[in-house]
Amino acid sequence: MIQCLIIGGGPAGYTAAIYLARAGVNAVLVEGPQPGGQLTTTTIVENFPGFPDGVDGNRLVNDMRRQAIGMGATVRTATVNSLDLSARPFVATLGDGESITADTVIIATGAQARYLGLDDEKRYAGLGVSACATCDGFFYRRKTVAVVGGGDTACEEAHYLSNLASKVYMIVRKDHLRASDAMQRRVAERNNIEILYNCNAVGLYGDGGVEGAHVVRHLGSPEQEQFDLPIDGFFLAIGHTPATAFLAGQLDLDEAGYIVTAPHSTATSVNGVFAAGDVANAAYRQAIAAAGDGCRAALDVLALLAR
Ligand code: NDP
Repeated sequence: MIQCLIIGGGPAGYTAAIYLARAGVNAVLVEGPQPGGQLTTTTIVENFPGFPDGVDGNRLVNDMRRQAIGMGATVRTATVNSLDLSARPFVATLGDGESITADTVIIATGAQARYLGLDDEKRYAGLGVSACATCDGFFYRRKTVAVVGGGDTACEEAHYLSNLASKVYMIVRKDHLRASDAMQRRVAERNNIEILYNCNAVGLYGDGGVEGAHVVRHLGSPEQEQFDLPIDGFFLAIGHTPATAFLAGQLDLDEAGYIVTAPHSTATSVNGVFAAGDVANAAYRQAIAAAGDGCRAALDVLALLAR
């Protein structure tokens, strides 16, 4: 029986582990088989305070992990197959069948950006393909980029990129945007954003990095036509999937599957269970925000344990 089980090996989970272990709480963090989360898919992180020269994403998250272990947290590499939240203490069952019984739980399992599923997305990962304009947009100053998607995220990313890149294309599969009117207006105000409606990206090309996208207009219809779009960066903005499936409906989720937390708190719908980072927050999606959330969750756990 431990005092706190933290599920998720990203900035939120490691930060929660640092705070709890430092406070003398018996905390175990279970990180998935590929720890580190989304930071491991980026290159240099230039917007995490304290690193004026930037820091490699893998190094940053690995240092958080080392710091948590150094403070005395136990870090286990395993998958949490199921979690029984029906009564406190809670019971987690790991992939190898072992159980962990915990008085409190912090869920920090994150969210994954959706990709189109093209082989080229993997081939050019870190070489012009990104799912985060705030993270990687800086590398495309005065260049040409494309954003795939027509929702609020795509509009927000295109708007952000339009401040940096000289030209931004939006590749939208329908003949209209799904985004809110306000977001659509922000995009329309930018002269350097061009929306390519009824278009699907079907591949990428380039020697050692993205130099363009193969795009099909009116895919699957008699008017179907393919063309090449020269670009330097290819940004996916077709939604994220929060890692909440293993919760099997035991916590309140919003319609997109994110964990609902109480206002100004990381408390979930089950007393003793807290949520931090991207799994509970679709709006910010930044390492520093997730780390801040991990701190808040740890402080919420400490307050509960002190009662
Ligand atoms: P959405 O699900 O709202 O939009 C996804 C977009 O990607 C849609 O245009 C969709 O097309 C397109 N898409 C999905 N799959 C594919 C595919 N395989 N190929 C091509 N296009 C595809 O996701 P968002 O991330 O934009 O938003 C998630 C939630 O977060 C929403 O509720 C949104 O309102 C909210 N949000 C709010 C913000 C704000 O208010 N500031 C900012 C960002 C997000 P189609 O329309 O054809 O289905």
